[in-house]
Amino acid sequence: MNAQLIDGKKLATETRAEIARGVAALKAEKGVTPGLAVILVGDNPASVSYVTAKEKACREAGMLSREIRMPATVAEDELIAAIAKLNADPAIHGILVQLPLPKGFSEKRVIDAIAPEKDVDGFTPVNVGRMLIGDDCFLPCTPHGIIKLIEVTGMDLAGKHAVVIGRSNIVGKPVAALLSRKSVNATVTLCHTGTKDLAAFTRTADVVVVAAGRPNTLTGDMLKPGAVVIDVGVNRVPDATKEKGYRLCGDADFASCAEVASAITPVPGGVGPMTITMLLWNTLESARRVEG
Ligand code: NAP
Repeated sequence: MNAQLIDGKKLATETRAEIARGVAALKAEKGVTPGLAVILVGDNPASVSYVTAKEKACREAGMLSREIRMPATVAEDELIAAIAKLNADPAIHGILVQLPLPKGFSEKRVIDAIAPEKDVDGFTPVNVGRMLIGDDCFLPCTPHGIIKLIEVTGMDLAGKHAVVIGRSNIVGKPVAALLSRKSVNATVTLCHTGTKDLAAFTRTADVVVVAAGRPNTLTGDMLKPGAVVIDVGVNRVPDATKEKGYRLCGDADFASCAEVASAITPVPGGVGPMTITMLLWNTLESARRVEG
């Protein structure tokens, strides 16, 4: 392996320590404890584990964590009413609805119900619009974490070619938008399943962010030597040697990409820890704004 490992866990630990200091200072100076409410509808195992990890991180940072669990059979209006109550609750500075919601719910209507000033996931149309026009807003957590991970490699992105694979609203599109901001100044190509000859684009990229949700979307032969690879994918691959019967892998073929890249994120331990960290970051920021 030639590539440097971009250690998301280490960066997350350092950033969370900084957040915890910020929380302690806010408590001491203004008597305010940042509060995050996490709403989980149904019992999807992956969602349960994400929510558990978010709550643990929240408590470890000294924040208030409020968990609201609802059965998958809950009426959408009841869910919206719970969000409205949290919007008006002064102890809560951030509201997160764990996605995906069970079948039958309108995610758009539910997300729209979150007050933009408490939308610490950065998913409401108001925050997405503010991000696009460069206004002050909560940046979406995974894309914001990805920018931080590229920064630790020391690469100056100005004038570089960044290829983003995937155009979802929660990862691909916002990553492309953040990379093309004037303050970052990368030249961005956004690829998707309609892209003809994906490798022709990735081979000219200084940075590749792959968020396709499919193992081996990116392989070493598709990279320019020295490129930085950010692997967002989290895929469960059957593995009889593991207690759970599966192992996690990203969207990049780690072994072949690590031979050609100058730096690469591992899965797990890359993008994931930074996503939760940026959620805490936004929650602290929200608490500072409300009381400031
Ligand atoms: P998504 O909504 O399924 O979007 C996948 C995107 O990838 C789509 O735009 C799709 O193109 C594109 N795509 C799929 N296969 C492709 C291929 N062979 N070539 C080019 N483009 C391709 O997924 P997502 O929500 O963005 O998530 C992507 C991955 O990141 C998933 O594995 C997810 O679990 C993971 N994730 C991780 C974190 C974290 O914190 N670690 C957070 C969010 C997501 P079309 O639009 O043409 O269909």
